[in-house]
Amino acid sequence: MTQRYVYRFGGGVSDGGKGDKNLLGGKGANLAEMASIDLPVPPGFTISTEMCTRYYEEGERFPDSLKAEVAEGIAHIEQVTGKRFGDAADPLLVSVRSGARVSMPGMMDTVLNLGLNDRTVEGLAAASGNERFAWDSYRRFIQMYSDVVLELDHGAFEEALEIAKEDRGYTLDTELSAADWRELVAEYKGLVEKEWGKPFPQDVHDQLWGAVGAVFGSWQSERAKVYRRLNHIPGDWGTAVNVQAMVFGNMGDTSATGVAFTRDPSKGDRAYYGEFLINAQGEDVVAGIRTPQYLTKAAREEAGAKPLSMEEALPQVYTELAAVFDKLETHYRDMQDIEFTVERGKLWMLQTRSGKRTAKAALKIAVEMASEGLITREEAITRVEPQALDQLLHPTLDPNAARDVLTKGLPASPGAASGLVVFDADTAERMAADGKAVILVRTETSPEDIHGMHAAKGILTARGGMTSHAAVVARGMGRPCVSGAGSLSISAKDKVLRVGAREVREGDMLTIDGATGEVMVGEVATIQPELAGDFGTLMEWADEVRRLKVRANAETPLDCRTARDFGAEGVGLCRTEHMFFDAARITAVRQMILAEDEAGRRAALEKLLPEQRADFTAIFEVMAGLPVTVRLLDPPLHEFLPHEENEFAEVATATGLPIDQLKRRAAELHEFNPMLGHRGCRLGVTYPEIYETQARAIFEAAIDVAEKSGEAPIPEVMIPLVGTKRELELMKTVVDTAAREVFAERGRTIEYLVGTMIELPRAALRAGEIAEAGEFFSFGTNDLTQTTLGVSRDDASRFLGAYVEKGIYARDPFVSLDVEGVGELVELAAERGRQTRPNIKLGICGEHGGDPASIAFCEQVGLDYVSASPYRVPIARLAAAQAALKARA
Ligand code: PEP
Ligand code: MG
Repeated sequence: MTQRYVYRFGGGVSDGGKGDKNLLGGKGANLAEMASIDLPVPPGFTISTEMCTRYYEEGERFPDSLKAEVAEGIAHIEQVTGKRFGDAADPLLVSVRSGARVSMPGMMDTVLNLGLNDRTVEGLAAASGNERFAWDSYRRFIQMYSDVVLELDHGAFEEALEIAKEDRGYTLDTELSAADWRELVAEYKGLVEKEWGKPFPQDVHDQLWGAVGAVFGSWQSERAKVYRRLNHIPGDWGTAVNVQAMVFGNMGDTSATGVAFTRDPSKGDRAYYGEFLINAQGEDVVAGIRTPQYLTKAAREEAGAKPLSMEEALPQVYTELAAVFDKLETHYRDMQDIEFTVERGKLWMLQTRSGKRTAKAALKIAVEMASEGLITREEAITRVEPQALDQLLHPTLDPNAARDVLTKGLPASPGAASGLVVFDADTAERMAADGKAVILVRTETSPEDIHGMHAAKGILTARGGMTSHAAVVARGMGRPCVSGAGSLSISAKDKVLRVGAREVREGDMLTIDGATGEVMVGEVATIQPELAGDFGTLMEWADEVRRLKVRANAETPLDCRTARDFGAEGVGLCRTEHMFFDAARITAVRQMILAEDEAGRRAALEKLLPEQRADFTAIFEVMAGLPVTVRLLDPPLHEFLPHEENEFAEVATATGLPIDQLKRRAAELHEFNPMLGHRGCRLGVTYPEIYETQARAIFEAAIDVAEKSGEAPIPEVMIPLVGTKRELELMKTVVDTAAREVFAERGRTIEYLVGTMIELPRAALRAGEIAEAGEFFSFGTNDLTQTTLGVSRDDASRFLGAYVEKGIYARDPFVSLDVEGVGELVELAAERGRQTRPNIKLGICGEHGGDPASIAFCEQVGLDYVSASPYRVPIARLAAAQAALKARA
């Protein structure tokens, strides 16, 4: 049997249905579906996406067998409409439109009014009784066909139209008469012959095949390719082609065309929402040549608009349309985005699909549809894109506000912020203390900038990717951040940033949108988030179905509070180094690093102990009753030392050390590759007293809180960058010894765990024996990605974009877990760890813990929890619920 490529719809026939999107494209599948539920759909047929694939495989040619299939499709339309294609008396006209699996708005081609030629135009004039309409349709067709199929410069046609109007003293297209259009058609045909070298095709079948080829051809157009790349749409999906009987919204005052949503796509309200134009063709609404009118009377009145709404102007058809909306929503069980045409009082449906909506609308629609009984709660949970919640958790830019975009970087941490530009952290802190909103602009940030980042409303960097220091810290703090804005050139010394010829100086107003990466000059108005209502309801439903626990990466009481408010069930990663950078104690930290021997280090650590204890006390108080994973010191020590000449003098005075000694020590600590150097547990192995002090601070704080509140926290002490069992054993001994001592001193014990991060491939491979020494694993997938891929997380942004563009990685592996590679290590480590210790606690605390696709993977391998930055906790809760539902199905 030869393969079938043509599927009919309309006139009581439906060869396909809504389940056939892959084969028929979204438009084709839904046209067939609408026809099958007796909605008024102009008859037509769809040439499948499989033909698109074959067309390209065979060198942009159609197989002979398609001829007969298309002929049958045309015969179907002729039979339903009673008109004949190419008939001189009452010709059938068709539209030829693209339609991929997912909508790619405006990316591919369309030809309308196909089937008109010098003979049929007269027939159309006679049959419609409207000569002007017939000639206008013909000139529209020539113009569109010449553009899309013959690929002639459309400017020439527009120019000819402008001249024609000028010559006759008209300003509007509507002033042209039948005779005027007829003359213009002659001129257009002359243009075609001149540019194309052949007369405009008169054979309607040639016209049809030309258009079908052009629509398939548009799948590989440059703009379609770019769109696919940006939206992760595979190039081998192909498009379908829909050939459908034309219906006309431009046949007078009882004709109209419009687009509508069954609910408000921006607020989610249950109200029909849309626009229409009387006496117009579909593209007139889209092109914005005329201002469309409101659909409902209520909307028109609310807007204070004059031109009558459809409800008022065409009440009968409106009632019919409203019934169609209800039928479609009940049938599809989702909000629909619809295109319709009214031809002389008769309603026709041209398209329906699930409507795109804002996060706010998505929430409202999901919750209300569940309450209406249209969908289940489980379905409601799956209807909201977790990532979209980001839009709701931060202030966002007012979509109606004007913006002057300076440049674009990576959308590193969502939210929008406006403030005065500053180029260093100290100035940021000082100005913020004076009550000014500031945007901290740095080439890149380092841990020393933390206080400035905290003080700033937003952070902008020229370098660094999505897991750069700035990005990670900003997300943790919930600060909007745009990173890696490569076109920025920053001179911190001269206090100016440049993009091409434009300059922004310290104190100038700048706005960043961390959700899009846009950087704008001046202030742009924002809108505040709302967390109760539909958001709260959907979150509750999500919590009922999820299995994965959700924790937060948080290291300040404020972050912990935010995380708890967002529903975190513990802290999955408290990075203690950020506490070391605090201005109040950096001197003691430096004295510890600069000490020549253990005694010197211990003396400095003595000073740090109460400070650390206070840090942990504050965190444990907020997280009372919940587990808190505290990671012992991780970064290389040299990060705490000065680098610039002027800083050395300052630090020498503060620490009371000779500047030479300071410089010598800094030089000694210099590393060529600090990421793979003296960091993580290697610090604890060489200087156990550091970890010992931190462990002591943890246990003392835990007991303090337990005694005060009666509710003990559950500290989980975590050792970073372990590669061997022996490292963990040594560090666990240090921690256990500190615990024993504190418990003896205080005369009471508390529950605690000691475990490790899995951040190195060796640790994943040897997880079986490492689990003998550790009670939990937390996958540090930032470092694990770095070490598995051999890609530096701080330098990746320079080339990873090209890698994603060329399809080497489907997505940035630092944002969405490389499931095949890094994921295999995670799975294997989880398995081997469980073999040794069946109840070992497993979590993830890399940035992937807040990424929905990575969370789905964590559900699949059965981790116990994910840990994400506070502002991503709700996203993780929803993603975990969706993953659980998927696993159940
Ligand atoms: C990790 O490596 O995934 C991790 C969470 O640790 P950090 O980002 O602090 O290196
Ligand atoms: Mg790490």
